[in-house]
Amino acid sequence: MHETALVQDLVKAVEKTIRQNNIKKVNSIALSVGTLSNALPDALIFAFEAFTHSGLLKGTKLIIKEIPVKACCEACGQYFEPDGFPFACPECRGRCCSITQGEEIYIESLDCEI
Ligand SMILES: [Zn+2]
Repeated sequence: MHETALVQDLVKAVEKTIRQNNIKKVNSIALSVGTLSNALPDALIFAFEAFTHSGLLKGTKLIIKEIPVKACCEACGQYFEPDGFPFACPECRGRCCSITQGEEIYIESLDCEI
């Protein structure tokens, strides 16, 4: 499952940060998840709880922040939030659009006790 692997990497990365910075406890992790990343928030939280039953992140909360999709029209340079596939520019109806936001998953912040 896609989410399980993602969460495993996330937990490893945060545990590394904990060790490197002598953090006592991480209260919560804010994770930004693009709506095009194909990761389901519920599945992420489920996997996170399974991975953090014990260990350094026991009791840490995972907060998911969904990031909407943004695209840029290659014909006229318009930035817009597409409302579905296929993407079309609201200005010129052009279909050559590149996605500028919405595919990413990254840790936005950690709420820690030092
Ligand atoms: Zn356009």
